[in-house]
Amino acid sequence: MKKIFVLTALYAMVILMSLQSAYAQTDSGQKQFAKTKVGEVEIITLVDNSSEFDISIFDGDKTLREQLSSGKKLPASINAFLVKKGDSLILVDTGIGKQLLENIKAAGFQPEQINAIILTHTHGDHTGGLLQNSQAAFPNATLWLSQKELAYWQSQNLRYADLCKKMYNGLKFIVQDEKTPLIIPEMTAIAIEGHTPGHTALLIRSQNEGAILIGDLLHSVTLQFAYPDICANFDADKPKAIAARKKLLKLAADEKLLIAGAHIPFPAFGKVKIQGDGFQFAPAPLKNP
Ligand SMILES: [Zn+2]
Repeated sequence: MKKIFVLTALYAMVILMSLQSAYAQTDSGQKQFAKTKVGEVEIITLVDNSSEFDISIFDGDKTLREQLSSGKKLPASINAFLVKKGDSLILVDTGIGKQLLENIKAAGFQPEQINAIILTHTHGDHTGGLLQNSQAAFPNATLWLSQKELAYWQSQNLRYADLCKKMYNGLKFIVQDEKTPLIIPEMTAIAIEGHTPGHTALLIRSQNEGAILIGDLLHSVTLQFAYPDICANFDADKPKAIAARKKLLKLAADEKLLIAGAHIPFPAFGKVKIQGDGFQFAPAPLKNP
């Protein structure tokens, strides 16, 4: 399962092509959102785009990948989430900016109501919806991300990072120490470096219930719960991505936390159990507020 890849220029090009083609396939453009509750905190999945991944973007044993996927492409999704508690309306990631605004409105909100945006990380499928016609799509929101991630964003796409900084009136850094409250008392941040250097997961605890918004901890339900050593090409530092994946999924299993993933197919909520050397995922029933 463990392979060491040499990052040649050719391989980097393949990654770029995978990123571009991975999200090329879309569904019929249906509005999709789903609401659930964790104690007093409401979490709403907003589908920005539906897509499929080819198994070739994942590493690991080819025969195993083909068996697990039954020779088909792997269902994926690009999701953002709303976290709502009292007057706080927090958008977590912004997709590529395809159906996000429509689905925010379909869920009963207006973009102007969103007062904070948290970026789990800064790949284009999480930051693409920040701007609309070069203006802030969420004009009353403060932007939150980890300091390391801002540096990574600027190293990858300085022009867009700086434009977003300029259009959003205020940028704050997330403290990833698992104890400092993040915007609301119920939420804290966990460092899950690997997929990107400043990748952040969000832990929500309220009234003896808990949830983790896992960002891009994994890209395939079919492959990576059972075999967490498998990485997608998008993981910048694969050993660290694997370690973060195992650590966070173990926490979710041990504490029976709801998980919500940016690329888990709709409605993107589930629970995990430890199974052998990996994990088993099951969609979780929604608790509609
Ligand atoms: Zn992503």
